[in-house]
Amino acid sequence: MKKVYIRDKRSPVPLNENVSRVMSSNKAKNTKPELKLRKALYADGIRGYRLNWKKVPGKPDIAFPGRKIGIFINGCYWHRCPYCELSLPKTNTDFWKKKFEKNIKRDKKKEKELLDLGWTVLVFWECKIKTNIKDCINKIKVNL
Ligand SMILES: [Zn+2]
Repeated sequence: MKKVYIRDKRSPVPLNENVSRVMSSNKAKNTKPELKLRKALYADGIRGYRLNWKKVPGKPDIAFPGRKIGIFINGCYWHRCPYCELSLPKTNTDFWKKKFEKNIKRDKKKEKELLDLGWTVLVFWECKIKTNIKDCINKIKVNL
């Protein structure tokens, strides 16, 4: 469905539909790539994981607590995917740059805290889940 923006002069108008969509999907649970990965895990007979496991730092999107494996599914835009090389927004560039740097820092911190607890951390990028889900599943399997 196409969104129609009402210009009431109170809120900034998103530059285009795409920007509006990625911005509203920030920090969302059950994102498309996450669901795709879970579906593939299920199809492969892999069960017993927990979602947004709160008992360890960083709340991994998918966790195998018994095996101490934490999985993060990163959206390419918000987490600044190293493969996609997405450009920064052309307006308020400094603001976005800082925001993205914060996101990256937070990701690194989460990862380190888990590693310090003896966990294995796997990070999957949205684009890799889209293009090579098999590879993602295999990476999980070798750690199980
Ligand atoms: Zn990417």
